[in-house]
Amino acid sequence: MKYKYRSGLADMPSYDVVERDWRIKINANECGMNPPPLVQERAMTRLDRVAFNRYPNEQADMLREAIADEYGLKKENVVLGNGSSEIIEKLFATFGGKGHKIVYPQPSFSMYKIYAKAAEAEGIPVDLEPDYTLDVDKFIAAVKESRASLAVICNPNNPTGSLFSLEDVEKVAKSINCPLLMDEAYMEFAEAAGYKNSAVPLMKKYPHIIVARTFSKAYGLASCRAGYMLAAEDIATMTGKTMMPYYMNVLTLTVADTVWQMRDEYRPRIEQMITERERMAMELEKLEGFTVYPSATNFLLVKYDRAVELNEYLTELSIGVRSFGAAPRLENTLRFSMGTPAENDQWLLAVQTFARGEV
Ligand SMILES: *Cc1c(COP(=O)(O)O)cnc(C)c1O
Repeated sequence: MKYKYRSGLADMPSYDVVERDWRIKINANECGMNPPPLVQERAMTRLDRVAFNRYPNEQADMLREAIADEYGLKKENVVLGNGSSEIIEKLFATFGGKGHKIVYPQPSFSMYKIYAKAAEAEGIPVDLEPDYTLDVDKFIAAVKESRASLAVICNPNNPTGSLFSLEDVEKVAKSINCPLLMDEAYMEFAEAAGYKNSAVPLMKKYPHIIVARTFSKAYGLASCRAGYMLAAEDIATMTGKTMMPYYMNVLTLTVADTVWQMRDEYRPRIEQMITERERMAMELEKLEGFTVYPSATNFLLVKYDRAVELNEYLTELSIGVRSFGAAPRLENTLRFSMGTPAENDQWLLAVQTFARGEV
């Protein structure tokens, strides 16, 4: 039988991460540790009291309010999502559609291209510079010339680790006349290191700035699928229309709310990941032929002529890192997420062994 699939679906790329039961899994920028025991205990206690028979309206509003409080906003400015992935996908749906253009830097989060396609919009990638910095004027020109309906900047940028300055972000916001989505999936790491680069404080002056954040990275909650966006009420309302009723489940809401209430508990581990990143960067830089890009996140992007062979060697050792194949501007690069210090010691040793030709 020939099924009538939606047109364009067959050509749609899939999220292409090769997963298996890695001994050391540092390929998805996850947190290397489960939540602190205190947080887990509290979450379990709360889950014990959940009304499983009821639709989870109250819990969603509670979390929206708690998040709004932190940023001096109202709950009407907060939209929750099953991961910030859902937020981004729905924003692309909100501003997409036939004839609409969505502009984003390249290389950046690989899903932007796919979400643009899914929204039947035209994705317009703007090349970052060779050192992965952003040419702001070039980006602004691309947004203006294409009369884009949405511009996206990932800050700090995945997979390059680059942190874009708030002045640059403001310049973009000031110069374009479409919403600017700031994907701040890794901003907690930059903030913990003292960088004040989040676009949230700019939202008052520039109500077309949207900020997306996630519980998956710094808060180590990738399994629960929880994220949120902050936006002016009109944008939040329109985006909300693309969501199903009660799309956030009570298990996610309860755990995410607990993590949010206890987010100070995460401070030491976020700081540890930063220390580890600096330690790994220093060690990798010592290796012949390695270029390590500056990172404000929990991962490092490395360029190395023999990246393909190194990846094969690490795979043999059951160490899963992220390689990007022939993705534009990412040839011969590998991305290493920070694991626990013990895991980092292990994969570093493997990389050193390979680089020194001792295999
Ligand atoms: C991980 C990531 C996300 C989304 O993660 P969720 O688990 O869906 O919250 C969004 N943007 C970037 C750049 C990411 O790296």
